[in-house]
Amino acid sequence: MPESSLPPLARAAIDRDAAARTDPEREARFDADAAALVLPVHDGRLLLAERVDGSAPALGLIAPSGLPRETLRCYLGLVDVGGDRPSPVELRVYDDAAAAAIEAEEGRWALLRRAAALIDDRDQALATEAVALAAWHEAHPFCPRCGSATEVTDAGWVRRCLAEDRQLFPRTDPAVIVLVTDDDDRVLLGSNALWEQRRFSLLAGFVEPGEPLEHAVVREIAEEAGIAVDRVEYVASQPWPVPASLMLGFRARLAAGADPSTARPDGEEILELRWLSRDDVAEAGEELFLPTGTSIAGWMLEHWYGAPLPSDVPWPSS
Ligand SMILES: [Zn+2]
Repeated sequence: MPESSLPPLARAAIDRDAAARTDPEREARFDADAAALVLPVHDGRLLLAERVDGSAPALGLIAPSGLPRETLRCYLGLVDVGGDRPSPVELRVYDDAAAAAIEAEEGRWALLRRAAALIDDRDQALATEAVALAAWHEAHPFCPRCGSATEVTDAGWVRRCLAEDRQLFPRTDPAVIVLVTDDDDRVLLGSNALWEQRRFSLLAGFVEPGEPLEHAVVREIAEEAGIAVDRVEYVASQPWPVPASLMLGFRARLAAGADPSTARPDGEEILELRWLSRDDVAEAGEELFLPTGTSIAGWMLEHWYGAPLPSDVPWPSS
């Protein structure tokens, strides 16, 4: 059975210490703090610690002394790393040259998808926070309303439009992901046009502006599978900041009286649909690539299945 009642990437909470973000002395205090640590990010990739003793992989949290200084700094919060008191941790975003000076070995810089499968719950929380903030800054150098340059304030949690003196906040884009079952408790899986053949997962889609989550669930399933669902229930959420998604997991049932065999893929986003029983999943073997354990899709599917999924083929890593 799954080890936790919460999905991967959603199990630990960082003390984000938000009150410190507006403290004008925060940066100077951080620079003078012997316990302070930096999580370097480069091109959306997280630094992994070197583990020569064979212990489990972890994020590369390093002391700020000796690091290249001119870069984006964002305060992530207070993290217990086993010292007398929690360490303040900053995200720092580095360019190619600075990243190579910190760690030249490319394999130690990992995208969130690869890193998440290796690191523990606390590091997953830190990683999602860091990658989300770094992606927001990268995508929002200018004011979306007037196009003027913006500057970073509030320890990296706000950008301010210099022309309008207007504050801009990091954004999060909600998306629903839905485990649909029929009256025989079979689960509906789809194969997305962007994926390799034989990879199947839960249906998902972005919540549209002005739309409640429950309606987004019904609309997405109608659009992608051509069927009506009801009995929509929220399950859990998982941050997926690539670049800014928050996955909201729901269960839904095929609407009473509806015929499961009428499910049809939309042919654009979803190319193939299958209703699978637990026996089908158990016997699928090589024929079917199911979502991996770090995705909320894999976690939800595993809960429905009642055991670890038999076919845990990782996504192509890059
Ligand atoms: Zn502006």
